[in-house]
Amino acid sequence: MELQFKGKYILSGHIVCVTGLHIGGASEGVEIGGVDNTVIKDPLTEHPYIPGSSLKGKLRHLLEWNLGKVEWNDKQTGYTAHFCGECEVCKLFGSSPDDAQRIKVRQAAGPTRLSVRDSFPTTDTIQQWQTWLGEGVYTEIKTENAIDRVTSEANPRPMERVPARSVFAFEMIFDVYHTNDKDLLRSLFTALRLLENSALGGSGSRGHGQVCFNALKLEWRPVKYYTTGDEKDKEAIVLPGQTVTDVLKGFNTITWPQ
Ligand SMILES: [Zn+2]
Repeated sequence: MELQFKGKYILSGHIVCVTGLHIGGASEGVEIGGVDNTVIKDPLTEHPYIPGSSLKGKLRHLLEWNLGKVEWNDKQTGYTAHFCGECEVCKLFGSSPDDAQRIKVRQAAGPTRLSVRDSFPTTDTIQQWQTWLGEGVYTEIKTENAIDRVTSEANPRPMERVPARSVFAFEMIFDVYHTNDKDLLRSLFTALRLLENSALGGSGSRGHGQVCFNALKLEWRPVKYYTTGDEKDKEAIVLPGQTVTDVLKGFNTITWPQ
């Protein structure tokens, strides 16, 4: 398959935390006497954020399961990352280690199409945190009681989380190398919808990390735009709605730039 860079789709919008969100920070398990379950924060602003790697990893994982691409690896006693080089998961999310056997497979998939930026809180959310939580406080502490099933003793476990109703601005870049690549966009929206019915971050099975996407916008930036830098050379794509379900329902009605 002949591949040539044709341009980029920029998908942006909001991630709304329907429930509290916990994406673990680097200090997790290190601090003594404090909350050991901290969330990841921007070191400059102290604001929590959603790392692109967390979002991308979860989307890939959900799409792999959806397409029946997950394989159990007995040696590693875990699930192995899928990589066939031909399916939409491989083209969208790329990856796999650089071992010699896989170079051919990687060549078939072409470059990884999707990049996911870190998502930072919106200005409104930062202001709301100050109202809800107090000045300079951006997260809440939720104490969960793990009950010992034998002794019935409660073992309180404090966990830091981003409060429900917080909103983060996200951006995803989708590189196009083949005219058929835009069909992969539908898989991206499928993955986003799966995530809305799953969870982001830790403790998802206990109610954390329910998110929804809205205020969706899609823009096409062709090769030309990258030589002229001219706003005229970008094109806003009219979506059938601003939510993931609306986009999926009306996907076939989208007019794509030629
Ligand atoms: Zn594959």
